[in-house]
Amino acid sequence: MSKLKLYNTLTRKKETFEPIVQGKVGMYSCGPTVYWYQHIGNLRTYIFSDLLRRVLEFNGFKVKHVINVTDVGHLTSDSDEGEDKVEEAAKREKKKAKEITKFYFHIFKEDLKKLNIELPWKWPKASEHIKEQIGLVKKLEKKGFTYRTRDGIYFDSSRFKNYWKMAKLDLKGLKAGKRVEVGDKKHKTDFALWKFSLEDGKRQQEWKSPWGVGFPGWHIECSAMSMKYLGKHFDIHTGGEDHIPVHHTNEIAQSESATGKRFVNYWLHGAFLLSKGEKISKSSGGLYTISEIEKMGYDAVVFRYLCLLTHYRKPLNFSLDNLDAAKNSFQNFRRKVIEIRNEKHKGNDLTESYTNLFLIEINDDLNLPRALRVVLKMLDDFDFSSGKKIKLLEKFDEVLGLKIKEMKEEKIIIPKEVLELAEERESLRRQKLWAKADLFRERIREKGFSIEDTNDGYKISNLD
Ligand SMILES: [Zn+2]
Repeated sequence: MSKLKLYNTLTRKKETFEPIVQGKVGMYSCGPTVYWYQHIGNLRTYIFSDLLRRVLEFNGFKVKHVINVTDVGHLTSDSDEGEDKVEEAAKREKKKAKEITKFYFHIFKEDLKKLNIELPWKWPKASEHIKEQIGLVKKLEKKGFTYRTRDGIYFDSSRFKNYWKMAKLDLKGLKAGKRVEVGDKKHKTDFALWKFSLEDGKRQQEWKSPWGVGFPGWHIECSAMSMKYLGKHFDIHTGGEDHIPVHHTNEIAQSESATGKRFVNYWLHGAFLLSKGEKISKSSGGLYTISEIEKMGYDAVVFRYLCLLTHYRKPLNFSLDNLDAAKNSFQNFRRKVIEIRNEKHKGNDLTESYTNLFLIEINDDLNLPRALRVVLKMLDDFDFSSGKKIKLLEKFDEVLGLKIKEMKEEKIIIPKEVLELAEERESLRRQKLWAKADLFRERIREKGFSIEDTNDGYKISNLD
């Protein structure tokens, strides 16, 4: 059996995956900040981590997957400036912070279900792990990695030798220059572990701490919660590629400084969704939610299918034209599956050879585009017995997540009035009153059905 290889951002290489504990995997994915709807660019990242988890499970690993929920501490700028996104949304919507986070978390879960993403083993919320975060900051303080400024407790990045190991950035370009950029920080790359509440305004979400009333920084939550549920040293951490230079670099710095151990073995990052060649944004367009996509007449699974067609480390150019193309190709796929389901073709059993081909692709750093090609080839392989083929397709769908089991001919329910119209049309046809019969065809259409004449009489179908 081919061994699973994953591209590790830390080494910029594909590496054979070796778990810390035989047969088990601890995996943490940076979750959403629940202050607004997640757009399809964010959701692409969760489709990627879902594929990773499914591929691990297909390979027989038992996966403990954690996705955190950021409901406090993520500021409007990643560099510890600006308002807390949740507090700002609460002001905008004139609601309590808790109402905001509860609402958008609910929407996020619904989005994942629509995209057929497996739900995680745990979804820890930052606001429910304040104790763990304070504990971690205390540890860092004790070891001398922190200092205090007017607005918070900061991590001294110069004390962590391998700070740039993952980002592989040139430190010179980022050295603290103008005072205005650094603020009270000693170095530009230092970051807040704990922020004090502003003197002039009480926050909705704030807690007492040994340093003063305030709230945790954004990065510390992921270190505190991942280590709580997966241990100080665990297997896989995922996120979007934008997390590499700041968020994940800081997670490594603070976690490894606190424990003195290696934090994570494999770091995997999903590439952006683009619109007109740029990261999707308000200005480049394409900033849709899944509900919006559905309202435009696309099944959410079509978006998942579109994502499967591009490797997770390659940027995916999104446009409604691309989505249309994916919709058509997915419809063909679905039609073929239904055809095979109805076939009673006795061919050979090619389960083993196709399983091997499929495994080679998914185990090559989740090459889903090529794995899909194997699946399409298999659909058209007339040597392969149709019953066994369907069984194997359903097995492959444990990775693809395209709801293949649900791809069945729909039994349509035809209303009585439509049946009556069809009968009247039939009697007109028998009298060769073609023009009148055509009028009945029109009336049937108006009710949302089509009628065609076959050798065995007429057939009524749903209009698409
Ligand atoms: Zn994170």
